[in-house]
Amino acid sequence: MTQDTLERGWHVPHLLLLSLLPVVAMGAPGLAPELRVAGWLLLNVAVIAAAERWRPYRADWRPTRADLVRDGGVFALNALVDALAKMALAVVALRFVSGASALPGWLQVIGGALLADLGSYALHRWSHRGGWLWRVHAFHHRPEALNVANALTAHPLNALYDGVVRWGPLVLLGFDAEVITALAMFHLTQALAAHANVRGIIGPLRWVLGSAELHRLHHSTDGREAGNFGTDLPLWDLVFGTHRSGPGPRAVGVFDPARYPVATATGRWLAWPFQRRPSTAQDRSPST
Ligand SMILES: [Zn+2]
Repeated sequence: MTQDTLERGWHVPHLLLLSLLPVVAMGAPGLAPELRVAGWLLLNVAVIAAAERWRPYRADWRPTRADLVRDGGVFALNALVDALAKMALAVVALRFVSGASALPGWLQVIGGALLADLGSYALHRWSHRGGWLWRVHAFHHRPEALNVANALTAHPLNALYDGVVRWGPLVLLGFDAEVITALAMFHLTQALAAHANVRGIIGPLRWVLGSAELHRLHHSTDGREAGNFGTDLPLWDLVFGTHRSGPGPRAVGVFDPARYPVATATGRWLAWPFQRRPSTAQDRSPST
């Protein structure tokens, strides 16, 4: 056990949920995929929220009532967008026949996880180069705290295009629906655990799985440490030179908050990418 582990301990909810995932993904085939993913989401939120009270990473990152109102509203909106996107993908899938589902399940799971995270990595990194995509993505970076409540807070367009680049290739290549459902459950766990306000690390697993210790750096206001664009896997950051590690960030959020709508003004954030104003260098994320 390293000194780091002794000082901070394990990220128990993340490791617990990852160990439960194969059991739940394979053990409840009778449930419709939507119900399985929804149940998994509720379980993940409950486990991580309990851990945030038990072992918070930072006491001042607990969500306020205003945060919860904003996050709850955005979550409901994004759930609607997600459902519509899945219906569109299902229609597309009916028109394409491909052989990927003939591959062994384990190969589909590994290949699908790599492919899904590659598309998301590329678009996420591009979004941080500034311009219109950053104005969409900045909504996710505006909070000055990370916790399970704001883990899924993002502009609906951000949720839509991330879903398309993440799952679209798998649908077009004909991956098995059960595999895509299991990978969606894995992505939910990774997204929630990466933003969790819980102390602890995942040890050597950090070289193969995304984690809170890496993703907090992505949200840093210090551009030198704000890499780690892959949420599910660190592989593409390692391959393309954007992997960052080290102690936690001093502050999270956007580099110059005064240039953005206030964090709780959800309506202004939703409209912001569509307002006509020149893009300037200060629109850019610190991690370009
Ligand atoms: Zn980002």
